Amino acid sequence: MTLPRGNKRVTHTPVKPCLPLRRTVLVTGGAGFLGSQLCARKLQQGHQVICLDNLQTGRMRNITPLMSHRSFRFIEHDVITPYQLKGPVHQIFNLACPASPPKYQLDPIHTFKTSVMGAMNALELAREKGAKVFQASTSEIYGDPEISPQPEGYRGCVNTFGPRACYDEGKRAAETLFHDYHHRYGVQIAIARIFNTYGPFMDPQDGRVVSNFINQALRGKDITVYGSGGQTRSFCYSGDLLDAIEALMDLNEAAPAPVNLGNPGEFTVLELARKVCTLTGTRSQVVFKDLPQDDPKQRKPDISVARSKLGWQPKVRLEDGLHRTIRHFQAEMAEAGHLTAAAR
Ligand code: NAD
Ligand code: UDP
Repeated sequence: MTLPRGNKRVTHTPVKPCLPLRRTVLVTGGAGFLGSQLCARKLQQGHQVICLDNLQTGRMRNITPLMSHRSFRFIEHDVITPYQLKGPVHQIFNLACPASPPKYQLDPIHTFKTSVMGAMNALELAREKGAKVFQASTSEIYGDPEISPQPEGYRGCVNTFGPRACYDEGKRAAETLFHDYHHRYGVQIAIARIFNTYGPFMDPQDGRVVSNFINQALRGKDITVYGSGGQTRSFCYSGDLLDAIEALMDLNEAAPAPVNLGNPGEFTVLELARKVCTLTGTRSQVVFKDLPQDDPKQRKPDISVARSKLGWQPKVRLEDGLHRTIRHFQAEMAEAGHLTAAAR
């Protein structure tokens, strides 16, 4: 198909990428919670991994075990500035962006730039190298949804003028760029709308609900439930999510479209607090704090597209995933001397 005059030729037939067994994979945000686990997986599979991160919310400790690997390279760089890489790049996973509300709200303009300019720079590199590029989108593009569960066809209910907008609108704009680079330049893309994901390698100080509750429980501090705790979230274990991201990236589709990835099990925040208390055996008390502005009331993914396209569904039950995460936090916090005697 040819576009009107002035536009570059577009290929709609999927070009099945002829990928070498040993690929060069770029992970932006590779020092973060999800990115560092993805880097480790790709190294284990025998690929060359370039991790690009500005360490804003990522941590060197997440990638320290990878640094001595001869196929691993770390580049400290902010994705809002274009970057060039020598040699081939076969796959790009664009994960760079703070994901925790208190972190992404610290510098909202930078967060917006990270989403939009970061996406643009990843897409430009993909275009130059002929690489396929993955975008870590989010359930936040649905905002405070009026329907539940949320299917991909739902267009969302986002406040453009609130504290969460820098993230929500930035990620929405990034999806648009991915759509347009695919249709205009034939760049191979994959987009996952990721719902709340937790697991080992989260920063205990990250500010998200799972990390906060486990951190508080292990220190014997109050468990801070915002609002009544009646709002719901669906929590996916990171190992399950990464399986789906890899499967999505390996899919060759004529018309790639965003796919919801998450665990459809839905829990209130108060239920989560009770589970963390039980699993840690803490004596911490639940206390109620103000609900942040625009906090979504419900969130539950419709994952029928992921089920049919990828043959994927999450396997890890919330209790089991929390148990593994608690063990990981315990080890990290004990090392830092941050545990109460009871929690050791
Ligand atoms: P994270 O904060 O642990 O990781 C983000 C990484 O990106 C960090 O290493 C950070 O230093 C890096 N980064 C941030 N801004 C950057 C910039 N301008 N330049 C270079 N590096 C930058 O978060 P995460 O949970 O691992 O999330 C990874 C991606 O997945 C994010 O794009 C996030 O929006 C998306 N996502 C995550 C979830 C979730 O529940 N974990 C849900 C939806 C979407
Ligand atoms: N939350 C809470 N206590 C905390 C942190 C978060 O009650 O210490 C609530 C928050 O208000 C939201 C839910 O937990 O309703 C999930 O928050 P998180 O920051 O993890 O991610 P969100 O899904 O809001 O982006």
